[in-house]
Amino acid sequence: MFRLKLTTWIMSAIILLGLSACSNVDEKPEVEKETEETTPVSQEPVEEVEEAVEEEVIVEETEPLYHLNEANWTLEPIKDANPKAVLLTIDDAPDRYAVEMAKTLKELNAPAIFFVNGHFINTDEEKANLKAIYDMGFSIGNHTQTHVNLKDSSEEQQKDEILKVNETVEEVIGEKPKFFRAPFGVNTDFSRSLVSQEGMLLMNWTYGYDWEKQYMDAASLTDIMVNTEYLTNGANLLMHDREWTADALRGIVEELRAKDYDFIDPTTIKGIE
Ligand SMILES: [Zn+2]
Repeated sequence: MFRLKLTTWIMSAIILLGLSACSNVDEKPEVEKETEETTPVSQEPVEEVEEAVEEEVIVEETEPLYHLNEANWTLEPIKDANPKAVLLTIDDAPDRYAVEMAKTLKELNAPAIFFVNGHFINTDEEKANLKAIYDMGFSIGNHTQTHVNLKDSSEEQQKDEILKVNETVEEVIGEKPKFFRAPFGVNTDFSRSLVSQEGMLLMNWTYGYDWEKQYMDAASLTDIMVNTEYLTNGANLLMHDREWTADALRGIVEELRAKDYDFIDPTTIKGIE
C-alpha cells in the first residue's frame, strides 16, 4: 500500500453576475465536470469568469494484501501482510441485527463483509439499513435474492437470484457487491461463471457455529468461535444476522484480538480491484 500525491486541476467555474457565486470546489477527489448554468431570463449583462483552482488530494492506492485460497477458503498473506489474521463475515443480512452488528464492529474497528439477501432489501427502511452498513465502511456481498439452493434452480432462476441482488445493491449504495457467497455454500458451474462475469469474488467459509442448537447463546458461541480447532491463520469466519450472534460479536472480536489475531480488511483481498 502506498500513498500517491495527485494534483488535480478543477477548471472553469462559470459565475454569472447577478447570481450568488457558487463554488465548484469541494473536498471530493473527483475532477468535477464543467457545469453550465442556465442564463436567467433577464437582460442583465452576463460575464463569464474562468478560474483555475489547484487542489491537492491524497489518493490511496491499495495493493492486495491477501489471496483467497479457493481450495479451503482461507486468506493467505501476500508478501509481508500479517499472516495471523482472520476474515469476519455476516450472512443473511440485513435482517434484524445487522445494523447493530455493524455498529459493534465499527466501534471495535473490525472490518467485515456483510452478505445480503435480496428479500431483506425491499422496503425503504430495509434499503436504509443496507446503506447504513455500507456507510459505516463495510463491504457488501451478494447472498442471492431468496436464499435458494442454486443446485435446485434452473439457469434462468440462478441468473435472477444473483443479478437482482446486484441491481438492488447498486441502486442503494451506488456500487455492485464485490463478493458472492451461495446459500449453503452450494454453487453450480453456471453460478460460478456468472459470478465471475459479474466481477465478484466467490467465497465460502472455513468455520461457523451459530446455526447449531448448542451454540445459540452468546456465551457458548463466543467460546467456540475463539477456541475451535479450526481457528487458523487466514480463517474465514461465518456468522449470521441472529440475536445470539449479535450478542456474542463483541466478545468474539475481543477474544480473537487477545489471541493476537488481526482482522482482514476485505478491500485488500486480491481479485476485487
Ligand atoms: Zn445464508
